[in-house]
Amino acid sequence: MNTMDAGLDARRVAGAEIRRDARPAASSEAGRGSGAMRDADGAREPARPRVALVGAGPGDPELLTVKALRRLEQAEVVLTDDLVDARVLECLSPTARVLRVGKRGGCVSTEQRFIHELMIREAKAGARVVRLKGGDPFVFGRGGEEVDALREAGIEVEVINGLSAGIAAPASVGVPVTDRRCTPGVAFVTGHNGDGGIAPDWEALARSRLTLVVYMGLTRAAAIAKALQAGGLAATTPAVIVSAAHTQRQRECFTTLEELAGAVAREGMMSPALLVIGEVVALSARWREEVALDGAIEEARGLAKTA
Ligand code: SAH
Repeated sequence: MNTMDAGLDARRVAGAEIRRDARPAASSEAGRGSGAMRDADGAREPARPRVALVGAGPGDPELLTVKALRRLEQAEVVLTDDLVDARVLECLSPTARVLRVGKRGGCVSTEQRFIHELMIREAKAGARVVRLKGGDPFVFGRGGEEVDALREAGIEVEVINGLSAGIAAPASVGVPVTDRRCTPGVAFVTGHNGDGGIAPDWEALARSRLTLVVYMGLTRAAAIAKALQAGGLAATTPAVIVSAAHTQRQRECFTTLEELAGAVAREGMMSPALLVIGEVVALSARWREEVALDGAIEEARGLAKTA
């Protein structure tokens, strides 16, 4: 990987720092992997341009799929999101060109259209292109839009799943999201209202008894908790906030629905984080130790005061 190399030509493009090695973008065909194939007469015939849309998982590179790891090792050009852990980028070849095209909420972001154009240009130039996304590319990752743009440009797309944070984060704190003793299933929803997407129907979700895994919900925790309670979900419903799961910065905070927003503020929980709400959270031994026990102590104190 050459993002760290000194003396590279770095330039800013729409908020993305792009570093290039000495090789020009569309260098000579030699060394270009996806490469040229020979037809029956021995003439060079370019292979169809391809892009692999690869899920990087939540952080820990050991959670990459074997297929994802192979594509990373073979990649010549990698367009990566901010969410991708630095340890995953260590798996790339030292000669791979890494283009950072992240979209951090509130920061300068790379336009989606620009990302499409860049992938198309590199793939058509014959490079082995990997589009690397945190978690799974099709779970709140705009992977569908990228597939459409690439296919429209005549480029083949291979989608390689990654472990989504919505599955990995609850498991990392002992929460079995679909335990049938408590819930008929799980809903993955966005807590972010912007971007012209469809907002979740919180009242319907409150009635569903599904475990709720809320992506991008940290800054709207108060409004989400309020809407769920308005829909009839008990204030005492167990909840956990998991920040930066499977990274070296992982933190979690067990709480209840009514305390959710307070816990985010008090504990200074940072993005990226998931809110997990539902009875299944109480199946984690840690919830029992950190919240149920706390509640019992508070209750006992209250009783002692009134006695
Ligand atoms: N495609 C990703 C989700 C991208 S949307 C996936 O499948 O995981 C970005 C949101 O995902 C963040 O705001 C946060 O809610 C969640 N997220 C991503 N990585 C996370 C992690 N390591 N720990 C906790 N939440 C994470």
